Amino acid sequence: MSAPPCRFSIVETDAPIELLPRDITAYRAGNCGVDYVHRIDSGVEGSELTLVALTHGNEICGANALLYLLEHDIRPVQGALTLVFANPAAYQNFDPQRPFASRCLDEDMNRSWQQACLDNPQTREAHRARELRPYIEAADSVLDLHSTSHAVAPMLIYPDNHRNRGFADRLDYPFPHLLYDLDSYHTGMLISHHERTAPAGASIVAECGQHFSHAATEQAIAVTLRFIAGHNMLDSAQVLPEWSHAPDHSAGHYRIDRVLAAETEQFRFIEPFKGFERFAKGELIAVDDQQLVAAPFDNCALIMPARVPVAGEEVVTLAEYLDRS
Ligand SMILES: [Zn+2]
Repeated sequence: MSAPPCRFSIVETDAPIELLPRDITAYRAGNCGVDYVHRIDSGVEGSELTLVALTHGNEICGANALLYLLEHDIRPVQGALTLVFANPAAYQNFDPQRPFASRCLDEDMNRSWQQACLDNPQTREAHRARELRPYIEAADSVLDLHSTSHAVAPMLIYPDNHRNRGFADRLDYPFPHLLYDLDSYHTGMLISHHERTAPAGASIVAECGQHFSHAATEQAIAVTLRFIAGHNMLDSAQVLPEWSHAPDHSAGHYRIDRVLAAETEQFRFIEPFKGFERFAKGELIAVDDQQLVAAPFDNCALIMPARVPVAGEEVVTLAEYLDRS
């Protein structure tokens, strides 16, 4: 059965487009035998890190961060880096008139990392995931670089355990950390596949800011270099750039509780939320046709509310803010 077409193809952007995708065809050949995969080996024993960009084709900051590493010839002082441009075909479809359309070709690639999809791929994303699978499973740690529709704070997202949390806290990352339970959050996420198959190091998503902003690229470079440094693999002479965003009230740890889906086309938030707004239990968040949608618990934060609610599709993630004083 073929997958439904990508659902992000019909909406225009309310986000300014400061950056366009670059021509990355010079990096197609790579050195691993798989297109758009580059391995940079120090020749010294150490950790294997896989750095992933373009899991979502229109999230260009990740590609820019990997290009920064390649163009500045940044090499690990021990271990090896593997740089993966995950969905270059979607990236190369970018149309500034329809900038959300290039998120994917057939399906969300961050839902393709499930055994059934990998064993029997039905979409272009699932085929590509199968091709990339060895580079995820062989990695001690994986960083998957993303960006957001709204201009909200950058954030890290990772399976909730001591290993990931300890590593993320050592990054000294002054923005939200979203912790999730591997068995109850989205299936098919790339870092969840890594966490299940190679649980030695860290499995982390970095959301770096608004898709088409300069700031997201600067943030992606900053978090990528810190991720490498966090594994003692970055030359100590390398200057770490400042974060491109100022920390705000949203900083701290959150536990992802659930993902809400819109029941009807009439789903509307009571205000145009952008993310990280917090609610007490029982406070109204949205109306879905005649149904009131209220916060189901205290310190309930909205994470990545949908720009355009679609019936039957996820519309917002609810997370409990944990660092309340
Ligand atoms: Zn993404």
